[in-house]
Amino acid sequence: KAKESLRGGHCYFTKEMEQETETRFRLLHNLRKAFDGDRLFMMYQPQVSVADGRPVGVEALLRWRTEDGAMIPPDRFIPLAESSGLIIHLGEWVMRTAMLQLRRLQTQTTFNLRMGINVSMAQFRHPEFLGVLDRAIAETGVDPSNIELEVTESIAMIDRLAVSRTLSSIAERGVKIAIDDFGTGFSSLSYLERLEVDRLKIDKSFVDKLQGDTADPRLSEMIVNLAKDLDLEVIAEGVETDEQLEWLKKINCDEAQGYFFARPLEETWLIEWLREQEQRLL
Ligand code: C2E
Ligand code: MG
Ligand code: MG
Ligand code: MG
Repeated sequence: KAKESLRGGHCYFTKEMEQETETRFRLLHNLRKAFDGDRLFMMYQPQVSVADGRPVGVEALLRWRTEDGAMIPPDRFIPLAESSGLIIHLGEWVMRTAMLQLRRLQTQTTFNLRMGINVSMAQFRHPEFLGVLDRAIAETGVDPSNIELEVTESIAMIDRLAVSRTLSSIAERGVKIAIDDFGTGFSSLSYLERLEVDRLKIDKSFVDKLQGDTADPRLSEMIVNLAKDLDLEVIAEGVETDEQLEWLKKINCDEAQGYFFARPLEETWLIEWLREQEQRLL
């Protein structure tokens, strides 16, 4: 009897897996089609100074709009693009699109903005990565010091020598590096000290705690202090309320990003938002 139920369980499992493989396969097929058919586009979320809300940059965030108008979030298709190798072309397109957008923004606003571009691990480790970066910079004519690549802490867990070499090469070009979702990966702090990075992005999960009667600013504050000790800049992600912003001021966090200031916006709305900020700060 036990054997029977075991086998039953096994069959069920296999069918589930088969279905999942099929779903992934179909999704990947559709993703390639979407990429070729211009159904992928970028949105840009403002980043501001905590002190006065002055815009300091934007983060480029990838979007997929299907033919029936539905939006598929990047968390669902980026991992798929990564495991299939599509991320290399897709990542190159993202880089160029964001850089061209920055050049356009620079003619449309008086703020000196930087452009944050997410780079996944597979892209970062690809042998052509620096070549792709150089070509994108050269062909878009963007100032490298206004570009900030966002990588997650997990890159610090892989081949350390190769990673620190790549980071140094990026720094040589004047391009900035931010560690995204900082605090969730727990890489060794002594290792972090030796890496050439410019900014820590405090993960939203810590920012969520700067809220309510049971607010707990300890981890956010630790990250801010760590950044200061290491001479790094620091930005808080996922700021949704006034109360969170007040905490960030109290713990001396430099910059913030989140729905409280602005959601990710398409170009037209981004420019409109920037104009409003210019009016406000005049
Ligand atoms: P991330 O780089 O940590 O981006 C921040 C995410 O938080 C974005 O989600 C953004 O829309 C969301 N967010 C910002 N402010 C708030 C807030 O106040 N509240 C809440 N609830 N969420 C907020 P999104 O756009 O869905 O992107 C998810 C992740 O997908 C990104 O996390 C990044 O890891 C990845 N991703 C997005 N675009 C790209 C891309 O072009 N290339 C690569 N490799 N990865 C990307
Ligand atoms: Mg990011
Ligand atoms: Mg993040
Ligand atoms: Mg994230």
